[in-house]
Amino acid sequence: MNDRLDILPIHAWLPATAEPLLISGPCSAESREQVMATAAPLSRTGLVEVFRAGIWKPRSRPSGFRGAGEEALQWLREVQQQYHLKTAVEVATPQHVELALKYGVDILWLGARTVVNPFSVEEVTEALRGTDMPVLVKNPVNPDLNLWIGALERVNRAGIRKLAAIHRGFYFFARTPYRNAPMWEIPIELKRRFPELPVFVDPSHICGSRERIREISQKALDLDMCGLMIESHYDPDHAWSDAAQQLTPAALEDMIRSLTLRTEKGSPAFEGKLEALRSEIDKLDAELLDILARRMEVVSDIGRYKKENDITILQLKRWSNIIRERLEDGNQLGLDEHFLRQVLEMVHKESIRIQNRIMNEE
Ligand code: PEP
Ligand code: MN
Repeated sequence: MNDRLDILPIHAWLPATAEPLLISGPCSAESREQVMATAAPLSRTGLVEVFRAGIWKPRSRPSGFRGAGEEALQWLREVQQQYHLKTAVEVATPQHVELALKYGVDILWLGARTVVNPFSVEEVTEALRGTDMPVLVKNPVNPDLNLWIGALERVNRAGIRKLAAIHRGFYFFARTPYRNAPMWEIPIELKRRFPELPVFVDPSHICGSRERIREISQKALDLDMCGLMIESHYDPDHAWSDAAQQLTPAALEDMIRSLTLRTEKGSPAFEGKLEALRSEIDKLDAELLDILARRMEVVSDIGRYKKENDITILQLKRWSNIIRERLEDGNQLGLDEHFLRQVLEMVHKESIRIQNRIMNEE
């Protein structure tokens, strides 16, 4: 598969004047007053690059606030003019794209509910073809990396080169402290597959409440994500959508200023020490691999011996003893029990596979 996106670096279309690169604004544009009352203090923080606002809201129930629609695009124009902020809205249909373009919105994003459906993504991307619009693609509601990549590819193939992803967490069947489980391994894998792709994090929709937004924002920075999208409302408790997760502009400013920015490169002394530690890791990994290979050789010997004597592969009592003893030993060494159990189970599975092969070969 061709794992490449033909995109421009983010600083070419969204230069950051402050760190981290911040997109903020209300979940929904509710009224002209609410939009202005939120944009004014956000612009005064000097930290916000882009003002976001939902104009067409995808709601689970039809009774929810469905957005102010076209009228709100005029308010966003005022935000651009008065506060010199770029604007961003969610688009889910070709008509949304057409209207957003007509009113000069700067950046469009595809929401989690749109990205789950390749037909919808295709309709929207056809409407984008031939434009030069920056587009942000949220992850789909369900934890499916390929579906996310597919949407990014569809947008890119429509000729959109100002492209970025937004990680907003995933639906998870079990209860977690989050509204949408972060499952960091998914955005990390996305970054590994597409190192050129900027990935934003949306702590608001991951958390669903104000409490953990700082923690998720810090984690995003520590994982070298390219920026944050955070919902802010001048009066969050009375917001018409997502009231529990929005921050006042002042709270947002405090939170952002409390974050620690870590850079990828440190001083020469730091780099030297890091290099030494890394070479130690390389040596230990080599030993680990050698030991694993030797263990599997012994496992093969046991397999042959069992075969000669017509003994079954799996001897449950022996396995239960191994687990118990190894967990005790690991505990002494300070290893996490859950982690160690997973490692042991994988080693055991591989041992059984090897013995199975020996038992069944001529
Ligand atoms: C939003 O950004 O307000 C929104 C609806 O987000 P998501 O598509 O991530 O649920
Ligand atoms: Mn929202």
